[in-house]
Amino acid sequence: MFDLIIRGGDIVTPQGVVRGDLAVAGETIAAVGPGAAGEAARVIDAGGKIVMPGGIDPHVHLHHVWIKPDGTPLVTAGPEQVGRAALHGGTTTFIDFAYWRDGATAQQAIETRDKDFVGKSPCDWAYHIMLHSEPPPAFAGQLAEAIQAGYPTLKIFTTNILPSRSGRMIDFGDIWEAFQVLAKEGGLGVIHAEDNDIVMHMYAKLIREGRVGFENLAEVHNQLSEDLSFRRILRLAENVPGTALYMMHVSAGTGVAAIAEARRRGLPVFGETLHQYLIYSADDYRRPNGQIFHTYPSLKSQDDQKALWQGTADGTIHCVATDELCCTLKDKTVGSRIDDTTGGNSGVEPRLAVMYTEMVTRRGYSLPQYVDLVSSNAARIMGLYPRKGALAPGSDADIVILDPTRRGKVRAADLHETDYTPWEGHDIFAWPVVTILRGKVMVEDGQYFGSPGGGRYLKRRIAAATLAGSLA
Ligand SMILES: [Zn+2]
Repeated sequence: MFDLIIRGGDIVTPQGVVRGDLAVAGETIAAVGPGAAGEAARVIDAGGKIVMPGGIDPHVHLHHVWIKPDGTPLVTAGPEQVGRAALHGGTTTFIDFAYWRDGATAQQAIETRDKDFVGKSPCDWAYHIMLHSEPPPAFAGQLAEAIQAGYPTLKIFTTNILPSRSGRMIDFGDIWEAFQVLAKEGGLGVIHAEDNDIVMHMYAKLIREGRVGFENLAEVHNQLSEDLSFRRILRLAENVPGTALYMMHVSAGTGVAAIAEARRRGLPVFGETLHQYLIYSADDYRRPNGQIFHTYPSLKSQDDQKALWQGTADGTIHCVATDELCCTLKDKTVGSRIDDTTGGNSGVEPRLAVMYTEMVTRRGYSLPQYVDLVSSNAARIMGLYPRKGALAPGSDADIVILDPTRRGKVRAADLHETDYTPWEGHDIFAWPVVTILRGKVMVEDGQYFGSPGGGRYLKRRIAAATLAGSLA
């Protein structure tokens, strides 16, 4: 007797697509295919539908503080609101950040961040530890302990991003030290790479020339910056054998090329892009409320977009994340200059549907390719596989039933995220009709059954294969 059987769907398994049944017992998947025959407390008919693992967004910022142009803080929507939207859109797990700064220990950074999440997140979640100021004296030992305790990813910035910010950029000596700990302890560096000299030079130049409108952001956070910074940090990693890296929000063809070359040399490096970068370009800054398309680094050219798509097809780009930073339209558009425009996206809810349209419907990607890019690869790289990101016996029963007959357009009014969406009017060719987290139905036909305390923290360990650069 199973708790749940999902009957007759096209199930996207690690071995390919299988038409048949999937059985759930408790919080985990009990059987897929012929073994799923039998009785169950509940049966959901998935005939004509796609059954896939819950979406995983490896890059979100929830309950995040941003300073508005007038100096007042903006606190973005937290896990309760964004998690609810995520479940409506078929995402069951996200990875945020714990800020390690001001002389605190890594453990304190985690405990501080727990206050924003524990009892508040309806999705399962984890943190990357974000090095947010000069590393404290006991840095190496604390990082090693954190990795062993199940917090194995370290976020590092090579830029302060904006002229008004400082302290976020980590110098190369400290990064070098960090890589030695990561390599020794089996951690993964998750990197925001931009060339700080180029970026700050371009801010100064454009301000001097009076070209301060945000529509010029692509000139500041430009392709050359991505080229130089990616190559510099990859070169550093190459000098510390065993360092594995995940390059966040790749936005330019130069970034894709740098990753591809490093992978050809055998470096264990993975690439992430955002659905924003895949579909919008710097031309979209000129549309009404063009700030809604922006995140840091900036949108780039249509050629960059082509290179990013090519990267998702040839295995250079492994994940499509959101860089979620959910706020109102008023707050998203409050800045209008190159140096005060809010970054981040609202997009966790339509991510799966928009990517289905762009990958499966428009570009002919197979269902397994699509599932890898929105779920399974994030689980593999971030140390969650096969617990997450797989429809296989023993995996958590995080399951989405996508209905490919549910077609229409994205409308902010239909979403649960905020009062706008950068995807307004975007075609959708499938929508999640059921979202299940660890065996429990969270959303069914638009009805929400999640709860703020429903999510769980996920301790992680990076797989040996990942550390060697493989997704096998
Ligand atoms: Zn981010």
